Amino acid sequence: MSKLKMPASLSDPIINENAKIVLKRRYQRKDTEGVTYETTKELFWRVAAAIAEEEDKYKESSFKSTKLAREFYELMTSYRFLPNSPTLMNAGTDIGQLAACFVLPIEDDIEGIFDAVKHAAMIHKSGGGTGFSFSRLRAKDSVVGSTGGVASGPLSFLKIFNCATEQIKQGGTRRGANMGILRVDHPDIMDFIKAKERDGELNNFNLSIGLTEAFMKAVEKKADFDLIAPNSGEKVGSLNARDVFNILVQKAWESGDPGIVFLDRINRDNPTPKLGDMESTNPCGEQPLLPYEACNLGSINLGKCFAKGKNGHDSEVDWDELKRIVHLAVRFLDNVIDASQYPLPQITETVEMNRKIGLGVMGWADLLYQLKIPYNSQSAVDMGERVMKFVQDEARSASKTLATERGHFPTYVESIFGEANLGPYRNATTTTIAPTGTLSIIAGCSSGVEPLFALSFVRNVMDNDKLVETNSFFETAVKDAGAYSANLMEEIAKIGTIKKMEHLPEELRTVFVTSMDIEPIWHLKMQAAFQKHTDNAVSKTVNLPSNATKEDIWNIYWKAYEYGCKGVTVYRDGSKTSQVLCTGESD
Ligand code: UDP
Repeated sequence: MSKLKMPASLSDPIINENAKIVLKRRYQRKDTEGVTYETTKELFWRVAAAIAEEEDKYKESSFKSTKLAREFYELMTSYRFLPNSPTLMNAGTDIGQLAACFVLPIEDDIEGIFDAVKHAAMIHKSGGGTGFSFSRLRAKDSVVGSTGGVASGPLSFLKIFNCATEQIKQGGTRRGANMGILRVDHPDIMDFIKAKERDGELNNFNLSIGLTEAFMKAVEKKADFDLIAPNSGEKVGSLNARDVFNILVQKAWESGDPGIVFLDRINRDNPTPKLGDMESTNPCGEQPLLPYEACNLGSINLGKCFAKGKNGHDSEVDWDELKRIVHLAVRFLDNVIDASQYPLPQITETVEMNRKIGLGVMGWADLLYQLKIPYNSQSAVDMGERVMKFVQDEARSASKTLATERGHFPTYVESIFGEANLGPYRNATTTTIAPTGTLSIIAGCSSGVEPLFALSFVRNVMDNDKLVETNSFFETAVKDAGAYSANLMEEIAKIGTIKKMEHLPEELRTVFVTSMDIEPIWHLKMQAAFQKHTDNAVSKTVNLPSNATKEDIWNIYWKAYEYGCKGVTVYRDGSKTSQVLCTGESD
C-alpha cells in the first residue's frame, strides 16, 4: 500500500452501471472470503498513489508525488485515460504485476518447452497475456537425438499450453489469453493453419501465421516457396504459396482463425535489432516483443477530447487537452515500469533495458460521432492519421522530457534512435493501440479504433453476465433531431443499425454507422492510418456479416499487406458458437 494518504477532499468517481459490475467482479480488492472491501474511490486512489509514488525516486522530476497522484486520479476517474487491466487490478497490492503483454521464448527441447508452460502460468495468474512463437520447435516426425525417437511437433505442444491455461483462471479475475505464431516456412504449417478448424478447439489461443515478404511475393507470382527445418536450417520441401494462402483464407472464413502477422515488417520497426528478432506478439497482436519482454499499455479516451465549436466556429478535436493527457499518460506508463514486479528475473532485465510502453487510444468512434464524420469516409481516415500523428509526436516529446529528468533507456545508444542520433528517449517504443475490451466498458466508450458494433446491443461478459448498452452520443443526437421514442430505441437494440430506417434524418444515418454498415476496405484504411503513426501495432478486427465470402477475406488479407499493416484479424458474424459481442437479435 502507498504511503500517500487519500486526500479528504477527493471526489467520488461516477461509475456507469456496466462498469460497476465489471469493477466489483474483477478489480476491487476482496478479502479471503471473497467479500469486496475496496470502494471504487479507493481502487482508483490505490492505483494513482502507487504509480505517482515512483516519482520520488527521480530527484530532477518536475512533479511532486502528492500532486501527481491527484492528477492521475482525476485522469482516470474522468475516464480520459486508463492503464491496462493488470495495473488497475494489481497496483499497490502484493501481486504488483502491472503489464498486460508478454512474449516468452520456446526452445526446442523438453526443458525449454515446459519452462515456458510454467512461466506462462505465472504470468496468467497475475492477469497478463502471453505470446509465443512455436517456430523454433522441430517438425513432427523429425528425429529426437537423445532418444532416437520422433518429435511430436509444435501442434502437440500447443495443446499442452492450451490445457495448462484452461486450468489457471487467473485467480478468478481473467482467463489467460495466448497468441501462438508459426512461421509460414515451418514444415508443419498446414497442420497449424487447420488447428482451430473445429469449434472450441484451442480456445485459449489466438493463432497467427507469421508471413514473410518472400512468401507474399510468391503468393503474387503463384510460385512455390521453401519449407525449412528449424533445427537444421535445411530445405525439407516446398509448397505453392497461392495454395497455402487460399487455405489460410478458407480457415479464417470458417472460424476467424488463423490471423496473419507480417514478421519482416514487425522486425523492420524493431527499435533494438541488436538485441535480437521479434518472433511473436502479445495475444491480441498489437504488441510485438522480444523474448522475455513485457510491456504495459494505457489508452486515452478520444471521446473526451472534443471541443464544441464556439461563436459559429466548427467543432474540433481539443488538441490542447489531448496534449496534456498524452504527457501525463507517458509519465504514468513509465512509472508503471518501475512499480511493476515481473514474475521472472529475465523479464525484469529485458523490460528495464528497453522500457517499452504502449500508449494508445479508445473512443475513436465516439469522437467521430461528435465531429459528425462518418467512420467510412476519407475524412475519417485523414482525421485518424492526424490524431495518431499528434499522439505519437507528443508521446515521443514526453519521453524525451523524461529522458532529461531520468536518463534514456539503457540500450538507447545501440538502438535505431541512438544510431540515427534521434532522441534520447526514455522508452524504446511509446505507442500501441490495444483492443481495450474491458477498459472501454469501464470508461463507457467505444473500444480502441473500432467502429461501434451496434448503436445499442447486449454485451456478454465474463461467463454469464449480460449488459445492455446504448451509445450516449447517438441517444443525444436522436433527441436533438426530435426523433427519439422508446419504441424506436427498442427496435434499434434488436437490429443494431439504423442504416435502413429511412424515416430517420439522412445525417443521422450517415454519421451513426456501425461495423456491420461499413465495407471492409474502410476497416483496413483506418487500421493503416493509425498504424502509420504507431510504434508497435494496432489491434483491429475486421468484423464481417455472416454472408461475407472467402473472396472478401482474401481481399482483406491482401489489402492489409498492401496498406502496410503489421497484421490483421477477421471475424465473420456467427462463425463461432460463442462471441464476445452480439446484438439482441443474434443472441
Ligand atoms: N489480455 C489478457 N487476457 C484477457 C484480455 C486481455 O491477457 O482476457 C491481455 C492481452 O495481452 C491483450 C492485452 O491484455 O492483448 C490488452 O487487451 P485489452 O486492451 O482488451 O485489455 P483491457 O486493459 O481493456 O482489459
